Amino acid sequence: MEIVRYPHPALRWKSQPLTEINSTLRTTVRQMFDLMYESRGIGLAANQVAIPFRFFVVNVTSDPELKDEEHVFINPEITRRKGNEEGEEGCLSLPEVYGQVRRAEEIVVDAFDLDGRQFEMTLSGLPARVIQHETDHLDGVLFLDRMSDVARRELSDQITDFEAMFQRQQESGEYPSDERLKQNLRELQANGL
Ligand code: ZN
Repeated sequence: MEIVRYPHPALRWKSQPLTEINSTLRTTVRQMFDLMYESRGIGLAANQVAIPFRFFVVNVTSDPELKDEEHVFINPEITRRKGNEEGEEGCLSLPEVYGQVRRAEEIVVDAFDLDGRQFEMTLSGLPARVIQHETDHLDGVLFLDRMSDVARRELSDQITDFEAMFQRQQESGEYPSDERLKQNLRELQANGL
């Protein structure tokens, strides 16, 4: 398992709901937390590791010792949004890229946990921002898409570098073509986790 970087097609994937919670999912979730901590992240969506299903992991402290702060959101839905505020965001699929993004200030999110229990959380501040960022991932939306044109233009050199790098990796055979990568995602989706 590895975190894929922009513009890997998995990041533009509209992921499917999970229909089953099984041991493969539990193992995958553990691996995702470990990868997230290695990269000092606070959230990681399944399609960032090229898994086309709707779930993500979050620990806003980024501290692997704080297990109580670990949350898994399966088939999440943001059911209410209130207010809005701008704040800085980054993304493990675009390392070193940071920009201002406007998000709802307060949200209510509905999801299932790893035991299959449905829960609801009312969140504000950083946790609300993270959940909005990660839920966007599941719809193939990146934080870049939520920036103002001016803010995004300031990052255009960095974005172009990521695109050039991915193209080189495809040319060298390190990654297959976009078509092949999309086919892999379709197959994973058809077979389930
Ligand atoms: Zn991200």
